[in-house]
Amino acid sequence: MRKFDAVVIGAGAAGLMCAAQIGQKGKTVALIDHSEKLAEKIRISGGGRCNFTNVKVSEDNFVSEKPRFARHILAKYTPQDFIGLVQRHHIPFHEKHKGQLFCDHKSDDIIDMLAAECNSGNVTWMRPHSVTAIEHGLHGFSLASTAGGIETPNLVIATGGLPVPKIGATDFGLKMGRQFGHRIVEPRPALVPLTFSDAVWEPFKALAGLALPVRSRGSELDAPWFDEDLLFTHRGLSGPAVLQASSFWNPGQALSLNWSGADSVDTFRNHMQQACVGAKAQFDNWLAGLMPHVPKRLMQAWLDQPDFAPLRTRKVAELGKKQLHPLADAIANWQIHPSGTEGYKKAEVMRGGVSTEDLNSKTLESRKVPGLYFIGEVVDMTGWLGGYNFQWAWASGYSAALGVVQRIA
Ligand SMILES: Cc1cc2nc3c(=O)[nH]c(=O)nc-3n(C[C@H](O)[C@H](O)[C@H](O)COP(=O)(O)OP(=O)(O)OC[C@H]3O[C@@H](n4cnc5c(N)ncnc54)[C@H](O)[C@@H]3O)c2cc1C
Repeated sequence: MRKFDAVVIGAGAAGLMCAAQIGQKGKTVALIDHSEKLAEKIRISGGGRCNFTNVKVSEDNFVSEKPRFARHILAKYTPQDFIGLVQRHHIPFHEKHKGQLFCDHKSDDIIDMLAAECNSGNVTWMRPHSVTAIEHGLHGFSLASTAGGIETPNLVIATGGLPVPKIGATDFGLKMGRQFGHRIVEPRPALVPLTFSDAVWEPFKALAGLALPVRSRGSELDAPWFDEDLLFTHRGLSGPAVLQASSFWNPGQALSLNWSGADSVDTFRNHMQQACVGAKAQFDNWLAGLMPHVPKRLMQAWLDQPDFAPLRTRKVAELGKKQLHPLADAIANWQIHPSGTEGYKKAEVMRGGVSTEDLNSKTLESRKVPGLYFIGEVVDMTGWLGGYNFQWAWASGYSAALGVVQRIA
């Protein structure tokens, strides 16, 4: 039976940060992971360049039953703290749009940095190894694992969410949550492309590969509008606009898209009406001129729809509010019904997970089982696209490490 001050299960973003911090504070810590390769999700993130944080992060950038739960944890370890770490390791990086920070070279830079941080904390690596059973008694936790028996008073679950099972994602963390009496907020794919039935998608199938800037919004009441790029695919819609909105979309409900270039339906209606005055052009040419950012192929597919086809060859001067307003509404607030998502194979994150209601909002320690911690994506705290999920992983790993160290002291 090996004994450690703490054991972290899952050597991904949150687990690496947590183990390194515990070790660097002079405590013995083992880090267990079942995957052959270290931190594959970091490796594939950000198109291979890891969008490792965002210059501005708050609880407003998260989807959760209780986003405010993240406030203290995000304040304890900020993007500037992580940027400082990246700079100390001389990793070159750059800012892309909306404050997103990416490595100049490869995501491996971040993995190597975190592994070096673990090594400087003398973390005991146990990988590839699996934990087969966990029991909790008076003196803490007893683990059965493929590396033998392990005892510890502090156990951190950092096994992530369900997306991309082929690189090692499992439901281990959710099972542990249930085993120890925590409520699980229904997990589902988020930051995920949306799909459509053949009937709905037929007019747009030929547009696969086409991209344009839009405003997008999921179906939930508190869903924000996102100004991002939309991408048409063979099966539906993707691109940052749809990934963002997907985290706020519920099956059976509509996705809202505004590709008018105006910020709202009213603005676009007014813009259309003003542009109408004195216009002599044929309607389809006039509309294309009104929205130069819209690719011609999309405009054509749109105007081929039965509701709008009769307008195509009309003179703009002949059209009144009765014809223009429904068209303005359809473009600036397109209500389209996805049939589903591309699922965990393509999702970037899992929404839902271990409810925050029974976790300490400073340390992420369980209120039900002392010494048990949940960090990273397994917790019901899902970031927007843009580096927020990694910042949650770093910050939650850091806060749990402080909690563990205080508990031992
Ligand atoms: C394609 C893609 C791109 C992404 N890009 C970004 C990005 O650029 N920026 C951003 O902020 N977020 C991004 N994300 C999300 C981000 O990767 C995750 O939110 C983050 O990695 C979660 O950290 P974690 O430590 O909780 O889980 P993970 O990093 O997934 O780590 C979990 C670890 O636990 C291990 N594990 C799982 N089950 C077991 C088990 N039963 N036993 C032992 N070990 C186990 C896994 O092998 C893994 O190493 C991306 C995700 C995907 C899929």
